[in-house]
Amino acid sequence: MKEQILFCASVVMLYVAGCSPVNDQTQHATDAKLNTKADVESVLSLLYQQQAAEYRALCLQAYNIAKRRVDDVKKNKNYKGKRFAIITDLDETILDNSGSTAWLYLHDSATNYPFLMQWWLKGIADSVPGSVSFFNYAYDHGVDVYYISNRPDTDVVVKAAMRNMHNLGFPRTNDSDLSHFLFMKPKTKFSSKEARREQVEQMDSVIAFLGDNLIDLDSSFDGKPKDLRRMDVDKLKDKWGDRYIVFPNAIYGDWESRLYDTPGLTIYQKDSVRAATLRVVL
Ligand SMILES: [Mg+2]
Repeated sequence: MKEQILFCASVVMLYVAGCSPVNDQTQHATDAKLNTKADVESVLSLLYQQQAAEYRALCLQAYNIAKRRVDDVKKNKNYKGKRFAIITDLDETILDNSGSTAWLYLHDSATNYPFLMQWWLKGIADSVPGSVSFFNYAYDHGVDVYYISNRPDTDVVVKAAMRNMHNLGFPRTNDSDLSHFLFMKPKTKFSSKEARREQVEQMDSVIAFLGDNLIDLDSSFDGKPKDLRRMDVDKLKDKWGDRYIVFPNAIYGDWESRLYDTPGLTIYQKDSVRAATLRVVL
């Protein structure tokens, strides 16, 4: 037993001594990763979102900030004759889709449009912690809600989302509330939500924007490369936790897609880019 421990310790020491973090950056992909369709690196982010108490606390924290924003503005009955409203994203802001991504991981499959369509039509997503109670609180205190999503704006997809959200207990999810669902028009190439936000702001006074992706909040992030995204976050520093409320999403988003200059990379190629992008301090 003692020899086994000494042998293991020697192997570990040899491994550590032979590893240069900088050299390893471009040789990080393993043979196992070459043969997979699922993104093997998604498992930790999935577990973080499904199991970490810290993830849950971050969501509740974000909704507490949103509630404080409602409490601050409800002292005024309206703004220039307009009703108060909140604009929110759906996926990973109020709806938790991690169960479908977990299925893809366990079945070695990559995300694709037919799979997403099936998932949307099922209408069985869970709610993000704190979301249902917050939106009912806001609505009961005179703050309306608009759901702006880049799910496709087709009758079946919108109605499936409404049914899903109605079952979870969200307000403004009856058949008569269709105008509160602003999904992405078919054949729209650009994912910007700005035109839909402006549409709402012409009618109501929007007191807060909620989302897990920065394009849910401000058009300055539309199509921006990763370094400029971070710079713009600093420029808007007074808005975070005020009008702009961000939710954690480690599974996917522009934060990840902006790592790659070229679309359609394989898992192996992505892994190389990821390793090469790491900032080493040693
Ligand atoms: Mg989202």
